[in-house]
Amino acid sequence: MSKIWVLGAGQLGAMLKHAAQPLDIELRPVETDELDTFPIADDDWITVEREHWPDTPATKQLSEHPRFLNKQLLATLADRASQKRLLDELELATAPWVDVTEAVSAEQLFDELGERVLLKQRSGGYDGKGQHWLKQDGGAAQLSVPQGWGGNCIAEQAIGFDEEVSLIGMRHRDGRMAFYPLATNLHHQGILLATVSPVASKAPLQQQAEAMLSKLMESQDYVGVMTMECFQVGDKLLINEIAPRVHNSGHWTQAGSSLSQFEAHVRAVADLPMVEPLVKAQGIMLNLIGVDYNREWLGVPGVEVFWYGKEVRPGRKVGHINLCISERAQLLASLEQLKPLMDEVYGMAIDWVVSHLD
Ligand code: ATP
Ligand code: MG
Repeated sequence: MSKIWVLGAGQLGAMLKHAAQPLDIELRPVETDELDTFPIADDDWITVEREHWPDTPATKQLSEHPRFLNKQLLATLADRASQKRLLDELELATAPWVDVTEAVSAEQLFDELGERVLLKQRSGGYDGKGQHWLKQDGGAAQLSVPQGWGGNCIAEQAIGFDEEVSLIGMRHRDGRMAFYPLATNLHHQGILLATVSPVASKAPLQQQAEAMLSKLMESQDYVGVMTMECFQVGDKLLINEIAPRVHNSGHWTQAGSSLSQFEAHVRAVADLPMVEPLVKAQGIMLNLIGVDYNREWLGVPGVEVFWYGKEVRPGRKVGHINLCISERAQLLASLEQLKPLMDEVYGMAIDWVVSHLD
């Protein structure tokens, strides 16, 4: 049986491994800084849990293997400029943008994009890092970008969105696709804090979202799980960014669906039968960001804790909590019980979750 090798060994790799095990699939996440190479067979499969990696003996071996899936697309998406260009080519709506070259002035950017302009590093950004609001200092002709960003960023129009939603889809080798219901996402300081899915009021957007992601996956003959982060503006979706992998906004599927996004990816990669994911009830995910593990969380009925075993640092994702409870009264009771066991910001997140319950 072919093994699956995953480029990257963070929490996403760990959760892929966790999902592969009961399917009797051997899946091995590989640290990107490994100096060793691995006994990879010709008929093994290589996939990723991240879109950026350093050049090391291990990443070279994995990414140059003939069965490294979606190789070309990964390179395109890893650079925000080529990602935006691809979306434009496919006529998929995205936040208006400009490639920031040495020749562009701040004035030109404000002229073209409006008065709020967000600079984003072309590669390497995550969790809101690598973003910088362009300053309006009297229309300075000189473009001031943070040190080291020169020629390596794009400028985006600030979108006054209603809410952020994401669509997670899967595509198998035979071209069949399936999708989860849209996830509604709350960000705090550039980092995902909470997800609810499904949310009944987002159902009218589902078809539009699936058409967009289908077009992208089909055009690239993509295999695996892919995530489309969107801004919702009225009844329209604008793509914020694409992640060619399982995604934080899909963690709710571990508790809320018959098929987790991790198992869905493993099935697509290993060419196992594809099924429509069934939804059990509204799924809720709270990200644990820079907080210590509190074992009292485990005393709340319905709470499912995933602790990543990483060192706790401010702003770092160190785990998440899922809840999927079909009885509304119990769900509300569990959320109330959780509140005092968590930092203040989670009080706000839980209120946001409650406002999205059907
Ligand atoms: P991720 O953790 O998803 O990889 P990231 O650092 O790659 O995040 P983005 O997803 O591009 O960055 O942006 C992070 C958040 O910043 C978005 O979810 C959104 O809340 C806000 N944001 C990004 N781009 C814009 C924009 N053009 N207009 C308004 N808000 C934006
Ligand atoms: Mg994002």
